[in-house]
Amino acid sequence: MTSISGKTSIDWAAFASRLMPVETITETVLVKKRSRDFFWYSPILNEELKRCFGDLVAVPKTVAELKHCLSVAYEAEVPVVVRGGGTGNYGQAVPVDGGLIIETTSMNRILEIGDGLVRVEAGALMANINRALKKSGQEMAMFPSTQDIATIGGFVAGGSVGIGSLATGALREPGNLIALKALSVEAEPQEHIFHGPDVLKIHHAWGLNGVITEVTLRTVPSRDWIACMATFDDYEAAYAAGYAVATSAAIAPKMVSIVDARIVGYFPRLKGHLRKDRDLLACYVPSTDVPRLAALVDEHGGNLDLTLDDAAREARNIPHVFEFCYNHTTLQVLKSDRSATYQQVGVPDPANTGAIARLRADLGDDVWTHHEFYRLGGEITAIDLPIIWYSGRERLTAINRTYTDHGFAVYDAHANQVERGGLHNADYTHLAWKKRLDPKGLLNSAKSTAWQSVMDLSPEEIEAMAVVEGA
Ligand SMILES: Cc1cc2nc3c(=O)[nH]c(=O)nc-3n(C[C@H](O)[C@H](O)[C@H](O)COP(=O)(O)OP(=O)(O)OC[C@H]3O[C@@H](n4cnc5c(N)ncnc54)[C@H](O)[C@@H]3O)c2cc1C
Repeated sequence: MTSISGKTSIDWAAFASRLMPVETITETVLVKKRSRDFFWYSPILNEELKRCFGDLVAVPKTVAELKHCLSVAYEAEVPVVVRGGGTGNYGQAVPVDGGLIIETTSMNRILEIGDGLVRVEAGALMANINRALKKSGQEMAMFPSTQDIATIGGFVAGGSVGIGSLATGALREPGNLIALKALSVEAEPQEHIFHGPDVLKIHHAWGLNGVITEVTLRTVPSRDWIACMATFDDYEAAYAAGYAVATSAAIAPKMVSIVDARIVGYFPRLKGHLRKDRDLLACYVPSTDVPRLAALVDEHGGNLDLTLDDAAREARNIPHVFEFCYNHTTLQVLKSDRSATYQQVGVPDPANTGAIARLRADLGDDVWTHHEFYRLGGEITAIDLPIIWYSGRERLTAINRTYTDHGFAVYDAHANQVERGGLHNADYTHLAWKKRLDPKGLLNSAKSTAWQSVMDLSPEEIEAMAVVEGA
């Protein structure tokens, strides 16, 4: 068995036999397939990562099997990347150092449904969790638009907000993540339990500081959500209406998205259902709030084109409305034209429609804005995930500069290290836990720029750096 990654220092056939009785995948084509995620959204990451592969895949079905894989990898000093559904956008699940890919999707049991919580194995798909919750009149407090193929472990390790975040905040907000269990990578892997605020020691660490086995999440009562789509003659009116819906005391939306009319032109499945060439406001509101939404849309000069409960949506063969929001918006465009890409931009003052208008005037015809409203620390905020017609790094840098010159924060979607994207800084608490749970640095270490500089320190020394930074 030859190395697929080029890592010839390991005898892969011997390694694979040591993993037995755990199911393994060794066919080159399948290993290569499981070495990819959605990094190809970025032409920069695509160039950087398209030739990075693991050497084999293990598919454990139980915690005991997972422990066995980690123990064998520890003994043999084999790099490990944990993979859920592989829907991350920055190559988080790409095995840059080669080695073992551990796919969690067979560890997918729903262990407990309580009042306000669900406890599940890390490989459970979010759509299945929502399906199971439905019987108890509940739903996940938030889920990403990839719920059909993404796992809860992947969302916790790599995700941040989703459908529901407008009502219940970002994933990291207190109460959303109730508890996590994670395994260390040692000769005898140990299970560590994190409760309450301690979950942040593992959350959003891109799987580099422990292998999540179990997640307890907040659930909320499910409501009779109506998917609504309203169209407007200009973006600023759609944005202002969206902000008004998001902040209204009389409407309780769980999602509000604003999409530039030029992007809507790339949604063929909405053709004939929406007024043509108009900017879009897409949202979910409880059925009782639809009349108030209609009035608000009208006040802002828009038209409420679609109001659909799930049965009506299915009858008319319209996809879930959330498949036009978050990064699904980008996907809809990429389905037609692979020269598109995107960026992630924080809006400094979501109430300031004038600032959005001034920015849009400066951005140029190759940047089409798309905003999502969500809640952070109890306040409504917004993020822009614009479609960018890519013409090279230089132009992308100039676009980023236009955003920052206007006071908007760019969270680079074209970087493969955790510190260069959403975090902006090294998270020394994450890295201290990496040292504790992964002393040999085998877990996805290439995804941290800071790890190399702290790997020889003790966990306590690394943790002290977090205190100094926060002081
Ligand atoms: C079309 C599209 C729309 C998206 N929409 C959203 C959105 O609305 N909100 C959002 O936050 N994200 C979104 N994303 C990003 C991504 O889909 C989500 O973050 C998703 O939840 C990741 O889950 P996954 O199972 O696919 O994780 P993967 O891609 O498999 O893994 C993500 C990271 O988590 C690590 N990991 C996976 N499982 C474990 C585990 N058990 N223990 C430790 N580490 C682990 C991996 O090593 C990797 O670093 C979107 C992506 C796409 C392509």
